[in-house]
Amino acid sequence: MQYKKKIPIIIIMCLCLNIAIIITYAYNYKDRPEFKEIKPLINYSKKIEKPKSNKLAIKNINQSTVSDKTIYLTFDDGPSYLTESILDILKEENVPATFFVTSNQIYKYSDVIKRMYEENHTVALHTATHDYSYIYSSLDNYFNDLNKIRTDVFNIIGIKPRIIRLPGGSSNSISKKYSKGIMTNIINKLNENDFYYFDWNIDSMDASGNISKESIYENVVNKIHSGTNIILMHDSSTKQTTKEALQDIIKYAKKNGYTFSRITKNTSTIHHHINN
Ligand SMILES: [Zn+2]
Repeated sequence: MQYKKKIPIIIIMCLCLNIAIIITYAYNYKDRPEFKEIKPLINYSKKIEKPKSNKLAIKNINQSTVSDKTIYLTFDDGPSYLTESILDILKEENVPATFFVTSNQIYKYSDVIKRMYEENHTVALHTATHDYSYIYSSLDNYFNDLNKIRTDVFNIIGIKPRIIRLPGGSSNSISKKYSKGIMTNIINKLNENDFYYFDWNIDSMDASGNISKESIYENVVNKIHSGTNIILMHDSSTKQTTKEALQDIIKYAKKNGYTFSRITKNTSTIHHHINN
Protein backbone atom coordinates (compact mmCIF):
# COMPACT_ATOMS: atom_id res chain seq x y z
CA MET A 1 0.00 0.00 0.00
CA GLN A 2 2.81 2.42 0.83
CA TYR A 3 4.32 1.82 -2.61
CA LYS A 4 0.92 2.26 -4.24
CA LYS A 5 0.47 5.60 -2.39
CA LYS A 6 3.78 6.90 -3.82
CA ILE A 7 2.79 6.29 -7.47
CA PRO A 8 0.70 9.51 -7.97
CA ILE A 9 3.48 11.54 -6.35
CA ILE A 10 6.04 10.02 -8.74
CA ILE A 11 3.74 10.74 -11.71
CA ILE A 12 3.25 14.38 -10.61
CA MET A 13 7.01 14.79 -10.14
CA CYS A 14 7.67 13.35 -13.61
CA LEU A 15 5.10 15.71 -15.12
CA CYS A 16 6.66 18.68 -13.32
CA LEU A 17 10.11 17.67 -14.54
CA ASN A 18 8.82 17.33 -18.11
CA ILE A 19 7.24 20.76 -17.94
CA ALA A 20 10.46 22.23 -16.55
CA ILE A 21 12.51 20.63 -19.38
CA ILE A 22 10.08 21.90 -22.04
CA ILE A 23 10.13 25.46 -20.63
CA THR A 24 13.92 25.52 -20.37
CA TYR A 25 14.31 24.14 -23.91
CA ALA A 26 11.81 26.58 -25.35
CA TYR A 27 13.55 29.47 -23.63
CA ASN A 28 16.97 28.46 -24.94
CA TYR A 29 15.54 27.80 -28.40
CA LYS A 30 14.23 31.35 -28.63
CA ASP A 31 17.60 32.70 -27.53
CA ARG A 32 19.53 30.88 -30.25
CA PRO A 33 20.97 33.49 -32.62
CA GLU A 34 19.24 32.18 -35.75
CA PHE A 35 15.83 32.61 -34.08
CA LYS A 36 16.43 36.00 -32.57
CA GLU A 37 14.17 38.66 -33.98
CA ILE A 38 15.72 40.13 -37.12
CA LYS A 39 15.14 43.84 -37.47
CA PRO A 40 13.76 44.50 -40.93
CA LEU A 41 16.20 46.28 -43.21
CA ILE A 42 13.36 48.38 -44.57
CA ASN A 43 11.22 50.28 -42.16
CA TYR A 44 7.85 49.55 -43.69
CA SER A 45 6.03 52.12 -41.67
CA LYS A 46 8.35 54.75 -43.12
CA LYS A 47 8.02 53.26 -46.59
CA ILE A 48 4.28 53.76 -46.46
CA GLU A 49 4.70 57.37 -45.49
CA LYS A 50 7.30 58.04 -48.18
CA PRO A 51 5.03 58.43 -51.22
CA LYS A 52 2.99 60.91 -49.21
CA SER A 53 5.97 63.15 -48.53
CA ASN A 54 7.17 62.78 -52.14
CA LYS A 55 3.78 63.77 -53.40
CA LEU A 56 3.83 66.86 -51.24
CA ALA A 57 7.30 67.82 -52.46
CA ILE A 58 6.29 67.45 -56.13
CA LYS A 59 3.14 69.38 -55.51
CA ASN A 60 5.16 72.25 -54.06
CA ILE A 61 7.50 72.32 -57.09
CA ASN A 62 4.58 72.18 -59.47
CA GLN A 63 2.86 75.00 -57.72
CA SER A 64 5.81 77.31 -58.29
CA THR A 65 6.54 76.17 -61.83
CA VAL A 66 3.02 75.93 -63.17
CA SER A 67 2.45 79.55 -62.39
CA ASP A 68 5.72 80.40 -64.06
CA LYS A 69 5.75 78.76 -67.49
CA THR A 70 5.67 81.89 -69.56
CA ILE A 71 6.49 82.33 -73.20
CA TYR A 72 7.42 85.64 -74.75
CA LEU A 73 7.23 85.36 -78.52
CA THR A 74 9.55 87.97 -80.01
CA PHE A 75 9.94 88.96 -83.65
CA ASP A 76 12.95 90.92 -84.91
CA ASP A 77 13.65 92.77 -88.17
CA GLY A 78 10.06 93.50 -89.28
CA PRO A 79 7.71 94.79 -90.30
CA SER A 80 7.44 93.03 -93.66
CA TYR A 81 4.69 91.57 -95.82
CA LEU A 82 4.67 88.58 -93.42
CA THR A 83 3.90 90.57 -90.30
CA GLU A 84 0.21 90.93 -91.00
CA SER A 85 -0.31 87.16 -91.27
CA ILE A 86 1.67 86.70 -88.04
CA LEU A 87 -0.74 89.14 -86.38
CA ASP A 88 -3.64 87.09 -87.79
CA ILE A 89 -2.28 83.92 -86.17
CA LEU A 90 -1.70 85.70 -82.85
CA LYS A 91 -5.24 87.03 -82.97
CA GLU A 92 -6.72 83.64 -83.76
CA GLU A 93 -4.79 82.07 -80.89
CA ASN A 94 -5.40 85.07 -78.65
CA VAL A 95 -1.76 85.39 -77.58
CA PRO A 96 0.36 88.53 -77.24
CA ALA A 97 3.85 89.02 -78.67
CA THR A 98 6.66 91.55 -78.85
CA PHE A 99 7.95 93.08 -82.10
CA PHE A 100 11.44 94.60 -82.24
CA VAL A 101 11.00 96.72 -85.32
CA THR A 102 13.35 98.34 -87.80
CA SER A 103 12.95 101.42 -89.98
CA ASN A 104 13.50 99.48 -93.20
CA GLN A 105 9.84 99.26 -94.30
CA ILE A 106 8.19 100.88 -91.32
CA TYR A 107 6.24 103.56 -93.21
CA LYS A 108 5.17 101.09 -95.90
CA TYR A 109 3.65 98.98 -93.13
CA SER A 110 2.60 101.75 -90.78
CA ASP A 111 -0.90 100.24 -90.59
CA VAL A 112 0.65 96.99 -89.41
CA ILE A 113 2.54 98.85 -86.66
CA LYS A 114 -0.73 100.51 -85.62
CA ARG A 115 -2.43 97.13 -85.58
CA MET A 116 0.33 95.65 -83.34
CA TYR A 117 -0.25 98.47 -80.90
CA GLU A 118 -4.05 98.33 -81.01
CA GLU A 119 -4.07 94.55 -80.56
CA ASN A 120 -2.02 94.93 -77.38
CA HIS A 121 1.33 93.60 -78.57
CA THR A 122 4.52 95.35 -77.50
CA VAL A 123 6.01 97.56 -80.19
CA ALA A 124 9.69 97.60 -79.23
CA LEU A 125 12.84 98.91 -80.91
CA HIS A 126 15.51 96.96 -82.78
CA THR A 127 17.40 99.37 -85.02
CA ALA A 128 16.79 101.85 -87.83
CA THR A 129 19.51 100.62 -90.19
CA HIS A 130 20.58 97.17 -88.89
CA ASP A 131 24.00 98.12 -90.19
CA TYR A 132 26.55 96.69 -87.74
CA SER A 133 29.42 98.67 -89.27
CA TYR A 134 27.56 101.90 -88.58
CA ILE A 135 25.84 101.31 -85.23
CA TYR A 136 28.77 99.58 -83.55
CA SER A 137 31.49 102.00 -84.68
CA SER A 138 30.66 104.68 -82.12
CA LEU A 139 28.37 105.45 -79.22
CA ASP A 140 26.99 108.44 -81.12
CA ASN A 141 26.15 106.30 -84.14
CA TYR A 142 24.38 103.72 -82.02
CA PHE A 143 22.20 106.31 -80.29
CA ASN A 144 21.54 108.24 -83.52
CA ASP A 145 20.26 105.00 -85.02
CA LEU A 146 18.18 104.24 -81.91
CA ASN A 147 16.67 107.72 -81.90
CA LYS A 148 15.75 107.35 -85.58
CA ILE A 149 13.71 104.15 -85.06
CA ARG A 150 12.25 105.59 -81.88
CA THR A 151 11.06 108.67 -83.74
CA ASP A 152 9.68 106.54 -86.60
CA VAL A 153 7.56 104.54 -84.13
CA PHE A 154 6.46 107.76 -82.44
CA ASN A 155 5.36 109.17 -85.80
CA ILE A 156 3.08 106.16 -86.32
CA ILE A 157 1.63 105.34 -82.89
CA GLY A 158 2.56 108.38 -80.77
CA ILE A 159 4.71 106.56 -78.23
CA LYS A 160 8.48 106.43 -77.80
CA PRO A 161 9.30 102.87 -76.68
CA ARG A 162 12.07 102.17 -74.17
CA ILE A 163 12.16 98.41 -74.68
CA ILE A 164 14.90 97.45 -77.10
CA ARG A 165 16.91 94.59 -78.56
CA LEU A 166 20.43 95.11 -79.81
CA PRO A 167 21.16 93.80 -83.33
CA GLY A 168 22.98 90.48 -82.86
CA GLY A 169 22.09 90.51 -79.14
CA SER A 170 24.23 92.00 -76.37
CA SER A 171 26.59 89.01 -76.61
CA ASN A 172 27.56 89.53 -80.25
CA SER A 173 31.30 89.76 -80.79
CA ILE A 174 30.97 91.35 -84.25
CA SER A 175 30.90 94.79 -82.59
CA LYS A 176 34.56 94.22 -81.59
CA LYS A 177 35.46 94.52 -85.25
CA TYR A 178 34.16 98.08 -85.35
CA SER A 179 35.01 99.40 -81.89
CA LYS A 180 36.63 97.77 -78.89
CA GLY A 181 34.47 97.97 -75.76
CA ILE A 182 31.53 99.54 -77.64
CA MET A 183 28.99 97.00 -76.37
CA THR A 184 29.87 97.63 -72.71
CA ASN A 185 29.61 101.38 -73.32
CA ILE A 186 26.25 101.04 -75.11
CA ILE A 187 24.81 98.89 -72.31
CA ASN A 188 25.99 101.35 -69.64
CA LYS A 189 24.42 104.27 -71.48
CA LEU A 190 21.17 102.36 -72.09
CA ASN A 191 20.95 101.58 -68.37
CA GLU A 192 21.71 105.19 -67.40
CA ASN A 193 18.95 106.43 -69.69
CA ASP A 194 16.18 104.04 -68.57
CA PHE A 195 16.14 101.81 -71.62
CA TYR A 196 15.33 98.15 -71.08
CA TYR A 197 17.16 95.74 -73.35
CA PHE A 198 16.16 92.13 -73.83
CA ASP A 199 18.13 89.24 -75.29
CA TRP A 200 16.63 85.75 -75.58
CA ASN A 201 17.08 82.30 -74.03
CA ILE A 202 15.39 80.25 -76.76
CA ASP A 203 16.67 80.60 -80.32
CA SER A 204 14.34 79.32 -83.03
CA MET A 205 17.42 79.47 -85.30
CA ASP A 206 15.29 80.98 -88.03
CA ALA A 207 18.07 83.46 -88.79
CA SER A 208 20.12 80.66 -90.31
CA GLY A 209 19.57 80.37 -94.06
CA ASN A 210 16.78 78.20 -95.42
CA ILE A 211 15.46 76.51 -92.34
CA SER A 212 12.32 74.34 -92.55
CA LYS A 213 9.22 75.03 -90.50
CA GLU A 214 9.70 71.60 -88.91
CA SER A 215 13.19 72.55 -87.68
CA ILE A 216 11.96 75.86 -86.28
CA TYR A 217 9.16 74.03 -84.47
CA GLU A 218 11.59 71.46 -83.02
CA ASN A 219 14.11 74.13 -82.01
CA VAL A 220 11.47 75.88 -79.95
CA VAL A 221 9.35 73.09 -78.44
CA ASN A 222 12.40 71.04 -77.42
CA LYS A 223 13.89 73.96 -75.51
CA ILE A 224 10.97 75.60 -73.72
CA HIS A 225 11.03 75.04 -69.99
CA SER A 226 9.62 76.22 -66.66
CA GLY A 227 10.23 79.86 -65.96
CA THR A 228 10.76 82.62 -68.49
CA ASN A 229 11.09 81.69 -72.17
CA ILE A 230 12.02 84.57 -74.44
CA ILE A 231 11.92 83.13 -77.94
CA LEU A 232 13.89 84.71 -80.78
CA MET A 233 12.13 84.69 -84.14
CA HIS A 234 12.06 86.99 -87.16
CA ASP A 235 9.31 88.52 -89.25
CA SER A 236 11.50 89.90 -92.03
CA SER A 237 10.40 89.14 -95.60
CA THR A 238 12.44 85.92 -96.04
CA LYS A 239 11.03 84.22 -92.92
CA GLN A 240 8.06 82.42 -94.45
CA THR A 241 8.81 79.21 -92.54
CA THR A 242 8.76 81.07 -89.21
CA LYS A 243 5.21 82.14 -89.96
CA GLU A 244 4.36 78.56 -90.96
CA ALA A 245 5.75 77.10 -87.71
CA LEU A 246 4.18 79.69 -85.43
CA GLN A 247 0.69 78.29 -84.93
CA ASP A 248 1.93 74.77 -84.16
CA ILE A 249 4.40 76.18 -81.62
CA ILE A 250 1.59 78.09 -79.89
CA LYS A 251 -0.71 75.06 -79.88
CA TYR A 252 2.01 72.82 -78.43
CA ALA A 253 2.81 75.36 -75.70
CA LYS A 254 -0.85 75.83 -74.76
CA LYS A 255 -1.36 72.07 -74.58
CA ASN A 256 1.62 71.83 -72.23
CA GLY A 257 0.46 74.47 -69.77
CA TYR A 258 2.43 77.49 -70.94
CA THR A 259 1.01 80.97 -70.90
CA PHE A 260 1.96 83.81 -73.21
CA SER A 261 2.91 87.32 -72.34
CA ARG A 262 4.36 90.40 -73.99
CA ILE A 263 7.54 92.08 -72.84
CA THR A 264 7.13 95.14 -70.66
CA LYS A 265 9.69 96.98 -68.54
CA ASN A 266 8.59 94.74 -65.63
CA THR A 267 9.43 91.49 -67.45
CA SER A 268 12.33 89.52 -65.92
CA THR A 269 15.25 90.38 -68.11
CA ILE A 270 17.22 87.84 -70.06
CA HIS A 271 20.68 89.29 -70.62
CA HIS A 272 23.50 87.55 -72.43
CA HIS A 273 27.13 87.80 -71.42
CA ILE A 274 28.67 90.91 -72.92
CA ASN A 275 31.68 89.94 -75.02
CA ASN A 276 32.96 93.36 -75.94
ZN1 LIG B 1 18.06 91.81 -86.25
